Amino acid sequence: MEKRLIIAIDGYSSCGKSTFARSIANELNYIFIDTGAMYRAVTLYCMRRNFIGKYGLNTAGVLSELKNIHIDFIYNPDINEYETFLNSENVEKEIRGIEVTDQVSRLSQIPQVRSLMVELQRKIGAHKGIVMDGRDIGTVVFPDADIKIFMTASIDIRAKRRHDELKGRDIIIDFEEIKRSLIARDIADENRDISPLRRADDAMVLDNSRMTVEEQMSWVKQIIERKRSGS
Ligand code: C5P
Repeated sequence: MEKRLIIAIDGYSSCGKSTFARSIANELNYIFIDTGAMYRAVTLYCMRRNFIGKYGLNTAGVLSELKNIHIDFIYNPDINEYETFLNSENVEKEIRGIEVTDQVSRLSQIPQVRSLMVELQRKIGAHKGIVMDGRDIGTVVFPDADIKIFMTASIDIRAKRRHDELKGRDIIIDFEEIKRSLIARDIADENRDISPLRRADDAMVLDNSRMTVEEQMSWVKQIIERKRSGS
């Protein structure tokens, strides 16, 4: 039987990590886990209780509720994708909105939130055959992952991708504002005390500024082949 791998994909926001990770998982028939969705779901839960928002962050409130937050990924055959469920509610759309996006990096700095997410991510990945994307997968969640990729792209290209993605959902936001929000998230993610966004020493860098998804796939397929053949 073919060796089942753990593939860790980290990198900056709006680099196309999830699209890439999902394509790899489809190709290999692996499970794909978008760990950003988990942090987003916790953020949504806390926003609804006003523990996080424009006026600040109530860490004690967040911590008191952590045990009541249950996140699942459930397959939707109609769209052939997994969707994020928060306490049995499908929150896939809501967690992608700008309100959650603007708050998530503050919540993801709380150590207890991170350890809960990491524990869950390790449980999901225990049987291998998984592609997981996030910020700390190759450094913290699976430091022994078989393949580690660190994705990046120029800020203008990332902002354009985010702009197009939002436009596709009829959400019109000024390009410069999107750029500012991406930069703010980069700074928060790279500078937090615990598990900051950084490239694992043994991760391969993929700058996809000028690459199509097909080109990225042929790049990664070679890496997977090499790994499987043990070379
Ligand atoms: O990947 P996505 O943009 O959905 O992630 C949203 C946010 O969740 C990130 O900006 C980061 O603050 C947090 N995150 C994290 N660790 C992960 C995945 C996401 O801190 N593994």
